[in-house]
Amino acid sequence: MAEDTKNLINGRWECAISGKTMDSLNPADTREVIGTVSLSGSKDVDSAVEAARRAYPSWRLVPAPRRGEIIYRAAELLLKRKDELGVLVTREMGKVITEGLADVQEAIDMAYYMAGEGRRLSGETVPSELPNKDCKSLRVPIGVFALITPWNFPTAIPAWKIFPALISGNTVIFKPSSFTPVCATRLIEILAEAGIPNGVINLVHGTGDEVGEYLATHPGIDGVSFTGSSAVGEKLAKACASFDKEISCETGGKNPIIVMDDAILELAVEGAIWGGFGSTGQRCTAASRIVVHENVYNDFLDILIKATSKLMVGNGLKNETDVGPLINEEQMNKVLNYIEVGKKEGARLLTGGRRYTSGDLANGYFIEPTVFADVDRGMRIAQEEIFGPVVSVIKAKDLYDAIDIANCVQYGLSAAIYTQDVNASAIAERDLDTGVVYINSSTIGAEIHLPFGGTKRSGLGHREAGGRGGALDMFTKWKVIYRDFSGMLQKAQIDKE
Ligand code: NAD
Repeated sequence: MAEDTKNLINGRWECAISGKTMDSLNPADTREVIGTVSLSGSKDVDSAVEAARRAYPSWRLVPAPRRGEIIYRAAELLLKRKDELGVLVTREMGKVITEGLADVQEAIDMAYYMAGEGRRLSGETVPSELPNKDCKSLRVPIGVFALITPWNFPTAIPAWKIFPALISGNTVIFKPSSFTPVCATRLIEILAEAGIPNGVINLVHGTGDEVGEYLATHPGIDGVSFTGSSAVGEKLAKACASFDKEISCETGGKNPIIVMDDAILELAVEGAIWGGFGSTGQRCTAASRIVVHENVYNDFLDILIKATSKLMVGNGLKNETDVGPLINEEQMNKVLNYIEVGKKEGARLLTGGRRYTSGDLANGYFIEPTVFADVDRGMRIAQEEIFGPVVSVIKAKDLYDAIDIANCVQYGLSAAIYTQDVNASAIAERDLDTGVVYINSSTIGAEIHLPFGGTKRSGLGHREAGGRGGALDMFTKWKVIYRDFSGMLQKAQIDKE
C-alpha cells in the first residue's frame, strides 16, 4: 500500500503547506506507487529552520556521551528492522536486495560508530610557552545544518550525515531526494523513536529547485552538507560562498579500474562487473572505465563479455537478479542517450545497449548491461558521468599510460588497480589522483570508519564518514582555550623587559 510521507517539524508530522504531492514509484514496476511525497515550499523550510534554531541551544549542551546513547538506540532499532528497511530500499530505489540490505547496514555501522564518538570527541591539551598557564583545543558544534542527499543510497548517505552532525551537537534539517522519500521517512521515524528531542532533527520533503536551494541558502542555516551531482554541488558552493556558511559537497565520479598484464584476469573481471553493474552503475564510485594493458586486452574482453552476458536483469527483490532498474525515466533516457553517443563516437559496442521493451521488464526502467570496447580516453563516454550500467574499456600501453588515462578526467573520486606487482601497486597508489584507491579490488566498497571523498570535481570541503579527518571535521569547528592561573598579566611572544 502506498504511504503518505509527511514532513517532521519540531516533532510533529505535517503535510506541506502547499497541500501538493507527488508519487514515488517502484522503478522496477512503475504501476506500483510506493508512497506519496509532500511537495514543500519556502514556508515549510522556514518553520523547520526555526525549529532547529530553537532546539540548538539545549542540544549542544547535552553531554556528547548522552547524545551517543540516543544514537546507539537508533542503531539498535535499525538493526532490528534491517530486513524491512532493506526491502523498502529495493522497492523504492531499485537496487538488488543484497545491496538494499547493505545500504541499511551502512547506516547501522555509522550509527554505532558515531555513538562511540560521543565518548571520543577529543581535542588536544598542550603545554603553554608560559608558566602557570594551560592550553587546549575543543571541537564545538557549528549550529544548524542543512543535509541534502541523493537517491542512490537512500538510507546510508543520510546516515553518513545525520549521525555525525547530531553527535557533534548540531541540529539539522534533512532534505532527501524526492525519488526516495519513503526510505527517508522511515529512517527519521526510527530516530524519533530512539528519543532524538523535538526540533533536533527536522525532515522537509520536496524538489531540489523548490526546497533544496532555498534551504541551503537560508540565513538561518550555518552549514550545508550536500551529496549529489557536481553541477548542483558547484551551484550551491557558489551560493554559500560567504564566511558565515560552511559547505561540503560529495559529487560525481568517472572511476577507473586499471588491469595490468600480470593481473589475475578472472578476479579483475569480477571487480569490473561488480563495480560497473552493481547498483546498476548508479554509484558515485561505479567503475565506468576499465583501462586494460594491451598485452591482455583481448583476453580480458573475452572473459568480460562472457560474464556480462550471464547477468540476470530484473526486479531486485528476486534472489536471482544481478542488475536492477534505473531510478527513473529521465535517468534511463540519459543512459540510452550516452549509448548512442558512444556508438557515434566510434566505440565498439560489444554487448547490451538496449532498453527492455517486452515482458515484465517493460514496466520498469531496465537497460541491458552494456560494454563498449576500443574507447578512446577523450570520448564523451570516457569523460562524462553516465550513472548507469555502461562500461567503457580503454587500451593502455603500460602502467604510466594507464595512470595518465585514469587521471585525465575532471573527476577524482575512486580508482582501482589489479596487479601482482608490489611496485606497480605502489606507483598507482602514489600517482592516481583520487580520494580513494583500491588495490586488487573494485572501485566500490568504502568502509564507514575511513574518510570518504574525492579530488577535482568529485568533492569540495571536508571528507565524509571517517572520524578525525572526515565527518567530525565537517560538523565541528575548533575552539582554543588559554587559561592563565599565574595571577598576573603574562604576555605571549613579548621579550622580557
Ligand atoms: P542531484 O544533484 O540531482 O540531487 C541531489 C540532491 O540535491 C537531491 O536531494 C535533490 O533534490 C537536491 N537538489 C537538486 N537540485 C538542487 C538545487 N538547485 N539546490 C539544492 N538542492 C538541489 O543528484 P542525484 O541525481 O540525486 O544523485 C546522483 C548524483 O549524486 C551523481 O552525480 C552521483 O555521482 C552523486 N553521488 C555522489 C556521491 C559521493 O559521495 N561523491 C554519493 C552518491 C551520489
